[in-house]
Amino acid sequence: MVPQLDSFIGGRFRRGPRAFPDIHPVDGSTVACVTEATADMVDEAVSAARGAVAGDWGRTTVRERAAALHRIADAIEARFDEFVAREVADTGKPVALASRLDVPRAAANFRIFADVIKTACVESFHTEMPDGRAALNYAVRKPLGVVGIITPWNLPLLLLTWKVAPALACGNAVVVKPSEETPWTATLLADAMRTAGIPDGVYNVVHGFGPGSAGEFLSSHPEIDAITFTGETRTGAAIMAAAASTVKPLSFELGGKNAAVVFADCDFDETIDGLADAVFLNTGQVCLCAERVYVERAVFEHIVGALKERAEALAPNLGPLISAQHREKVLSYYRLAREEGACVETGGGVPQFGDRRDNGFFVEPTILTGLPESARCVKEEIFGPVCHIAPFDSEDEAIAKANDTLYGLAASIWTSDLKRAHRVAAQMRAGITWVNCWFLRDLRTPFGGVGLSGIGREGGLHSLNFYSALNNVCVKL
Ligand code: NAD
Repeated sequence: MVPQLDSFIGGRFRRGPRAFPDIHPVDGSTVACVTEATADMVDEAVSAARGAVAGDWGRTTVRERAAALHRIADAIEARFDEFVAREVADTGKPVALASRLDVPRAAANFRIFADVIKTACVESFHTEMPDGRAALNYAVRKPLGVVGIITPWNLPLLLLTWKVAPALACGNAVVVKPSEETPWTATLLADAMRTAGIPDGVYNVVHGFGPGSAGEFLSSHPEIDAITFTGETRTGAAIMAAAASTVKPLSFELGGKNAAVVFADCDFDETIDGLADAVFLNTGQVCLCAERVYVERAVFEHIVGALKERAEALAPNLGPLISAQHREKVLSYYRLAREEGACVETGGGVPQFGDRRDNGFFVEPTILTGLPESARCVKEEIFGPVCHIAPFDSEDEAIAKANDTLYGLAASIWTSDLKRAHRVAAQMRAGITWVNCWFLRDLRTPFGGVGLSGIGREGGLHSLNFYSALNNVCVKL
C-alpha cells in the first residue's frame, strides 16, 4: 500500500472521491496515491480561508505573524530530511540538490518575509493645499483576504513557499493548488503548519489538475481575492481568462527562453562552472535556465568544447525529467533540432543504465550548435537539459540576439570588463540580469519577467505590495 495524499481544508485532511498516482520519475514507480478535490471541496477550502481571515488570524498583529512565520520555518527544519525525501520522491531530483536548494530555501522564504513585514514602511505625506488647508496622508497595509496559489512541479516547495510566506505575512489566508506531479511537500507543509500553531483555515491545500479540476475551480472562484501563479505561459493565459469576470489582482511568473552572453574577456573557468549550472541544474527544469548561449567568436570553439566536456561528466548524476509526457516533449525538440539542421555536439538521446532507471524519465544533457536564430529550438522554451550555442562578433549583435525573444525572464553576462557588464546589463530585456553568476538570489529583490515571462514582481517589498491592499488615510490638520 502506498501512502495516500489528501487535500487539507479548514485544518483537516479531506479525501476526494477520485484518486490518481504520484509517480517517481527515477523509475516510474507509484510512490503515493493522491485524491482529487471536487468543486465542492474547493468551495469549502475558500470558505475556510475566508473564515480564518474574518476570525483570529485576521486580528493578528505584525509581530505575531512574523513569529508564526519563524515557527513554520522551525517546523520545516525540524523535519528537514522528511521534506527532502518527499521532494525527491516526487521530482526524482538528487538528494544533494533538494538538501542544498529546495528545502533550505523553503525555510528561508518564511524567515525573510517575517523580517520584511516587520521592517516594511508605508508612505506618508504632509499635504499643503493652495487655500491653506493641510492634511496628513498615510497608508495602512491590509490583507487582500483569500489568495489562490497555483504552482508548478520543478521546484515544488521552494516556489510554493515563495508565495505562501508573504501572503501569510500580510495577514491573508491561502488556498494552494500544487502541481499534480508533485503534491507531497505541500501536503507535508500542512503538518508543519499545525506544528507551528497556525490556525485552521489559514493554509489550505486542494489537490488535482488544471482544466476541469482544482486548478480551474480555484482560478474561476468568485470568492478568491487574488491569484498568484507560477507555470507555463499558456496556463497563465487560461487563468487570466478564468479570473477576468471577477476582476482581481494577478501575479504571474511564467516561462522563459533565457540567454547567456559570454564575452572573450570572461574568466574562463568561472564561466564554464556558471554555464554548466545555468544550462543543466535540475535537469534544465528551472525557469531561469539558459537555453540560448551566445559566445564571442574568439572563444566560441573553446567554450563549446569545455561545456560539452562538462555535460558528459555530469550526465551520470543528472536527475530525470518530471514525467514521461515531459520527456516526450523534450525528446520531440531533440528530434526537431536535427530536422532544423542542428549539429548535436553531445547528447540528443536517452541514456541506458541497465537498471531500474531505464523505466524512469531520463534524457541526455544536450548541446546544439549551427541553428539559425529563427529555428523553433532557439525560439521556444524546451525546459530540459539543453542549450543552443551560437557565435557573435560584436556587443550590439549579442544584445540584439539575446533580446530577440517574446519571453524576458532572465539573462546572464560573462565578462571581466566592468564597464561592459553595466552597459550590457542595462540593455537586457529581462526581469533579472546576472553578471558572472547565475541563480544567485537575494530574496528582497524584485523578481518577475517581461513579455510572455509574466506580470508583476514578487520578492521583498514587492511581494508585500502584491499580497496587501494599501488603504490611504487622509487626516485634515
Ligand atoms: P503548468 O502551467 O503546466 O502547471 C502549473 C500549475 O498550473 C499546475 O499546478 C497545474 O495543475 C495548473 N494548471 C494547469 N492548467 C490550469 C488551468 N487551466 N487552470 C488553473 N490551473 C492550471 O506548468 P508546469 O509544467 O508545472 O511548470 C513548468 C513551467 O513553469 C515552465 O514553463 C517554466 O518556465 C514555468 N516556471 C516559471 C517560473 C518563474 O518564476 N517564472 C518558475 C518555475 C517554472
